[in-house]
Amino acid sequence: MKARKKDVTSCSTNKALPIWEKIWKAKSAPKILTFGWKALHDSIPVQANLIKRQLCAEGRCQMCGEEEETVMHALVKCPDAAMIWRTSPLRVDTSVVVERKLMEWCLVLQKDYKEDLWWSLFWNFFWGIWLKRNAWIFNQRKITIMEVINNAAKFVSE
Ligand SMILES: [Zn+2]
Repeated sequence: MKARKKDVTSCSTNKALPIWEKIWKAKSAPKILTFGWKALHDSIPVQANLIKRQLCAEGRCQMCGEEEETVMHALVKCPDAAMIWRTSPLRVDTSVVVERKLMEWCLVLQKDYKEDLWWSLFWNFFWGIWLKRNAWIFNQRKITIMEVINNAAKFVSE
C-alpha cells in the first residue's frame, strides 16, 4: 500500500506539467501571470466562487445576466469575452469550447499552440477581460473590446 501511495504523489507533482512552464515562460507582467495561475486554480473571485465562500448570494454574471459566472464563463464564454477572443490576433473561437475548467481548456490549447508569444498574449487577454469586467462591475466604466485587444498586444511588445 505504501508503494502505491508514493506513486500517486509523484504523479501529482506540478513540476512535470508543461502548462506551468507555459505560464512562467510567457513574457507577461508578473501580476498577469499570477492572475493566470489563480484562474487555473479556480481561485479568482467570480460570482460562483464567492457563493461557495458565502460572500454573495447572486451567482449570475453581471456582464450578460445570462449564466452563472464561473471562471470559464467570465473569461471565455461571456459574449464580450468571446468576441475579444475571436477578434484578437489569436483568433480563438470559444463557441466550440466544451471544457468547464480553465485548466482543462489550457491543456487542450497546449496541443496546438507551443509558442511562448502565443501564451503571453493568451494571458494578457485573460487579464484584459478581467479588468474590463471589474471596471464595469465596480465603476460602471465601459472598456471597449478594441481597448482590451490593443492593451494586450502592447504589454507583449513592451
Ligand atoms: Zn456573462
